[in-house]
Amino acid sequence: MDLSLSPEHEAFRARVRAWLKANVPKREVGEPSREHGDPARVRWLKDWQRTLYEAGYVAMGWPAEHGGRGLGIMEQTIVNQELVAARAPQQIGMMGVQMVGPTLIQFGSDEQRRRYLPRMLTAEEIWCQGYSEPGAGSDLASLKTRAELVGDEFIVNGQKVWTSNAQIADWMFCLVRTDPSAPKHRGISYLLIDMRTPGITVRPLVQMTGDAGFNEVFFEDVRVPRRNLVGELNQGWQVANATLAHERNMLGSTTRTQQMFNGLLRIAQTHQRYGRPAAEDPVVRQKLAALMIRVEAMKYHSLRQLTDALKGRKPGIGASVNKLVSTELNHDIAALAIELLGNYGPLARSASRVADRGIWPYEFMFTLGLIIGGGTSQIQKNIISERGLGMPR
Ligand SMILES: Cc1cc2nc3c(=O)[nH]c(=O)nc-3n(C[C@H](O)[C@H](O)[C@H](O)COP(=O)(O)OP(=O)(O)OC[C@H]3O[C@@H](n4cnc5c(N)ncnc54)[C@H](O)[C@@H]3O)c2cc1C
Repeated sequence: MDLSLSPEHEAFRARVRAWLKANVPKREVGEPSREHGDPARVRWLKDWQRTLYEAGYVAMGWPAEHGGRGLGIMEQTIVNQELVAARAPQQIGMMGVQMVGPTLIQFGSDEQRRRYLPRMLTAEEIWCQGYSEPGAGSDLASLKTRAELVGDEFIVNGQKVWTSNAQIADWMFCLVRTDPSAPKHRGISYLLIDMRTPGITVRPLVQMTGDAGFNEVFFEDVRVPRRNLVGELNQGWQVANATLAHERNMLGSTTRTQQMFNGLLRIAQTHQRYGRPAAEDPVVRQKLAALMIRVEAMKYHSLRQLTDALKGRKPGIGASVNKLVSTELNHDIAALAIELLGNYGPLARSASRVADRGIWPYEFMFTLGLIIGGGTSQIQKNIISERGLGMPR
């Protein structure tokens, strides 16, 4: 494994860093989350993604013919690292660019690619993921939402749940059962559904962070044109799994974990415990060392994955390891930060004596959600043990 960057990549990093320094909107820096559905905030985040796209920093790895930069994995990795380091606002169209976009490049028709990809890149259209249902989360193939093909239209009936961003989304990539008599993995299709179609109802669910980031979505005789089917009828499971692999990759960021750990170190150095800085307390030092070992292991795992990708080797179970390790580690880092902040640690961002702007209790609760979303830790462990270690089911 070669840990050094070529002079060209170093120069590229310097250019990205300088551009971000000049262009990252200042008011977002360091803020915890705000109202998810606030139209002004949505507009502001869309504008940010468009600016980023026009500067050439969205979808670096997409082929140029589909609106990407046609650059390599290294450039994408450098941009991702620099975005986190510059504390740039999130990309509101992430599910489009990182999940459904690559899936359409692989499985979509030319017409679908032409219609959807350009508006994903600029966040002109926001996407949400309609996979989970009551009774079909980890066991996704148990989904019951039905779509019946009548002439040139599917008629969709059923319910989705935990649909992040459905309240602001223009489109949903959705799994539906099109053949109820087939074995459960074989009767599923992958549809693109316009969220403004009559018969769709979106009901927000409030998370313990206080944000309403996800929703219930109900379908009542929703008509979807047949041309919105991705891949073959009843063969949606394969398409769905391609999207899931992209999701796992999206969820683990070493740079973000390193930044959280740096924040924790700052607290340990500046907050007192028994009359001296917490970082001098032997018990705290043990806990910090244990977390630091996990951060370093995660960094080397990511570098190994990067090496595999550069050498054209398939990712295998690496994405599952990343998802499992990073989400649990972020949660544990936030837990120790709250402990070190003492009595003020658990206060929410709205409280008057809030410590560190309430970032840590927010992260603690938010990362708990990420341990579940995108496939729970238990499910990732199953995948790693069965597919990676060859253990019996
Ligand atoms: C913040 C957040 C955002 C989300 N966003 C979306 C979204 O945008 N779109 C979407 O479609 N879904 C979304 N989800 C849903 C998410 O994908 C599901 O919550 C997840 O797949 C788990 O399913 P479940 O909640 O039905 O739990 P269940 O599948 O009912 O699992 C309950 C518990 O049992 C365990 N378990 C289940 N089966 C096994 C097994 N075989 N072996 C070992 N343990 C098992 C699980 O690990 C878990 O601990 C989101 C969830 C969260 C928390």
